[in-house]
Amino acid sequence: MKTMMQGIAPLTARLEPWMESVMADTQLCAELLERHGSPLNLHNFSAMERNVAELRAAAANHDITFQIYLARKANKTIGAVEQAAASDCGIDVASLNELRQVLDTGVPGEKIVLTAAVKSTALLRLAVTNNVVISLDNYDEAAELLGLEPIPGKPLRVALRLASDDPAIPPTRFGLKAEHWLNDLNTLDAHQRLKIEGIHFHLNGYDHTQRAILIVEALSFIERLRMLGHRPSFIDMGGGIPMSYLESAAQWDHFWSELSALPAGNEELTWKSDRLGAQGPAPSAAVYPYHQSLVRGPWLDRLLRSRPDGQPLSIADRLRSQNIELRCEPGRSLLDGCGITLASVAFSKSRSDGMPLVGLHMNRTQCRSTSADFLLDPILLQAAEPVRERSPLSGFLVGAYCIEEELLLRRRFDFPHGVAPRDIVVFPNTAGYLMHIVESASHQLPLAANLRWDGQGWVPDAIDELV
Ligand SMILES: *Cc1c(COP(=O)(O)O)cnc(C)c1O
Repeated sequence: MKTMMQGIAPLTARLEPWMESVMADTQLCAELLERHGSPLNLHNFSAMERNVAELRAAAANHDITFQIYLARKANKTIGAVEQAAASDCGIDVASLNELRQVLDTGVPGEKIVLTAAVKSTALLRLAVTNNVVISLDNYDEAAELLGLEPIPGKPLRVALRLASDDPAIPPTRFGLKAEHWLNDLNTLDAHQRLKIEGIHFHLNGYDHTQRAILIVEALSFIERLRMLGHRPSFIDMGGGIPMSYLESAAQWDHFWSELSALPAGNEELTWKSDRLGAQGPAPSAAVYPYHQSLVRGPWLDRLLRSRPDGQPLSIADRLRSQNIELRCEPGRSLLDGCGITLASVAFSKSRSDGMPLVGLHMNRTQCRSTSADFLLDPILLQAAEPVRERSPLSGFLVGAYCIEEELLLRRRFDFPHGVAPRDIVVFPNTAGYLMHIVESASHQLPLAANLRWDGQGWVPDAIDELV
């Protein structure tokens, strides 16, 4: 395929076959945008099964009991929930509406874990009513739960959220240290009333050595809880299982070394020579590591093999010998390969100083996560009707919010064959976080529609009728 659009230091996305076939049908893309508006999120969840299988194979290799919970906050569609359930995964929910919708989809409460950072009384009650395990974060939350009107036949099933005591682990707002939990359980006189089924943690970043440290801490916490008469049976290590968006490690390194070499004010690579948080030629910590070499299955294998404190027993050996199931809550890496975002070109023009700009029918919350930028080259489909005259340009993508800094991406792109209104820009591999985590309807602009492939065609996802 002729390259119609490319970053000046290119970052070429890995593409699934289904993405290639959608993009090969420019007519279809144009019709879908016409019908559903721009931007438009397309989902094909077939890749999720493969991602799940990869993790399960790594766990099976170590002969441990293992379960996967899709972190729903990474993608709001009902299709993602249904695919996860079809692959026999559980669901990790982070709010009352997330929990309601997952229950309404038919997922039994026993396959749901509630990890919301802040939990209302209504949320706690709905979880208890449906036998959902609640990841308890703190003393006040535990008191709130214990204060609920008891529901006959419904035990208070909880996992204690553990904050590490190890100086190698950065401080966290989430959970409590084991010592604090033991004190609090005594103060609350909670030993009889809480059914402590497991230990939960979720760490920032993607480091398997940190997870190994936490698993060891959780295992010793479990020993102490067992001595107090509890019967925890699992450790849930949260998300942060890494994935890689790029084919090429060399492109990733090249981009950062080029960026660090740019003189201040030079806009050859990024808007106003934005360093994206980088201090030197190393990749910035303010963006997702778009290239990683150890991902998903091999990453889990490495974790299970590891011996964090130099003991002869590996993590897998210890889980097996203490008869503990390992659970995880991947969001991004389960949704790898499951979505793309299409947007229509509205205009091209020059900034007042001559810098070329390309405007899309889209705003910057519609392909963005909480990090500084989405670092993949979009793909341009020539769809302009009537066919327009084009001349090459190199500039920035701007969006619909009435803000000077309304950049859809911070990087600069080459359009070697030009660009025209009604051409289509495709943002690749956006299903994990990029579509939904910060999307806003500011200016009363509607949220993007969500379609999914049902095996025969593109159909609306039920989430768009719910909200
Ligand atoms: C966000 C989150 C996840 C998912 O993290 P990923 O990086 O998408 O895998 C899992 N569990 C909890 C508690 C979270 O907050």
